[in-house]
Amino acid sequence: MVLITDAKVVALAGGVGGAKLVYGLAKLLPPDHFTIVGNVADDFELYGLHISPDLDTVMYTLAGVANPATGWGIKGDTRQMLEMLRAYGEDPWFGLGDRDLATHLLRTEWLRQGMTLSEVTTRLLRGLDVQSWLLPVTDDPLATMVETVEYGVLGFQEYFVRHRWQPTVRRLWFEGAEQARLSDAVRDALGTADVIVMCPSNPVLSIAPLLAVPGMRETLAARRGKCVAVSPFIGGKAVKGPAEKIMREMGLEISPRGLAGYYAGLLDGLVIDEADRDQPSADGVPVLVTNTLMQSSEEKVRLAGEILSWVGSGT
Ligand code: GDP
Ligand code: CA
Repeated sequence: MVLITDAKVVALAGGVGGAKLVYGLAKLLPPDHFTIVGNVADDFELYGLHISPDLDTVMYTLAGVANPATGWGIKGDTRQMLEMLRAYGEDPWFGLGDRDLATHLLRTEWLRQGMTLSEVTTRLLRGLDVQSWLLPVTDDPLATMVETVEYGVLGFQEYFVRHRWQPTVRRLWFEGAEQARLSDAVRDALGTADVIVMCPSNPVLSIAPLLAVPGMRETLAARRGKCVAVSPFIGGKAVKGPAEKIMREMGLEISPRGLAGYYAGLLDGLVIDEADRDQPSADGVPVLVTNTLMQSSEEKVRLAGEILSWVGSGT
C-alpha cells in the first residue's frame, strides 16, 4: 500500500462515526499533517456547564480513553454524580460520567476566563497527551434545532437523547449559522490541504452544520486538494443512530447517488461499502467500493489507509 504521508489531510467529523475514521487517519499521519474540523452544533449547556459532545468523542477516541461499548464517554467511568442528582429529585437525562465531568468543568471555566473554544480544545487535548489538531469549525455559538411533528421545536440534545431520536423530523436548522465565523485556523487548514475527508458522520446532523458556517462551502469549493466523502450507510442503513430515519423524513435519498447529490459540487470521490455496490451510482463522482465497517482498530487504520492510497493514486 502506498501511503501519502507527506500529504496534508483535513478530516471533517462529527462524533462516534467520524471519530472511528479519525482514529485510523491519526495512526497513519504525523500530527502536523493532520487536522480535524469538529462539529459544535451538538453543544449545549447543562447545569451551567458547556458540553461539546462531538469534540469530546473525537478527543477521547484520539486519547485512547473512549468507552469502547458506546464510542462516546470514557471507558470505566462511573455515574455517581448522576445518582446524587437523582437523590435531589432531578431527572438527569443526559449521561455525564464522573471523569467526563472534569472535561466540562474545565471547558466551562476556561471559556469563562475568556479563552476561545479552539484554545480550550487544544489545551484539553494536550492535557490528554494528544498532539493532533482538533479545530471547532467556529468559536461562535451554533446550535442544531429540530422541528418535530410530535413535540414542536426541540433543542438537539432534547431530541437526540431525551426523546431518543424517535420524534419525526419536519425541519432542521442551525441557529447562529448566519453570524458564525469560520475559524481562521479552519480556513487555513482547508486552504492548504492536499486531501479533505468527510468522515462517515451523519450528513444532516454532523456534516451539514459544518457546511452551514458562512465561508465553509466557498473554502471547500476553492480547495486545491481532493475532497472525498465516506458514506455512513452500509446496505442502505445507518450503522447506528438516526441518519437514515431523518434523511428519509426529510425526503433525501439513502444511496451513493443521494449522498453525491447532498454534497453536490464538493466531492472528488465517494467511498461506499461493498453492500451498496448495486445501488444507484454517484452520477459522475468516482467511487471506491470497499468494506467500510470499522469495529476494530485494525479496520479503522485499514480503511484510512485505503482512502489515502486511493486519493494519492489519482482517485
Ligand atoms: P455522532 O455525532 O456520535 O452521531 O456521530 P457521527 O455523526 O460522526 O456518526 C454517525 C454516523 O456514523 C452514523 O450515521 C453511522 O451510520 C456512521 N457509522 C458509525 N460506525 C460506522 C462504521 O463503522 N462505518 C461506517 N461506514 N459508518 C459508520
Ligand atoms: Ca453528534
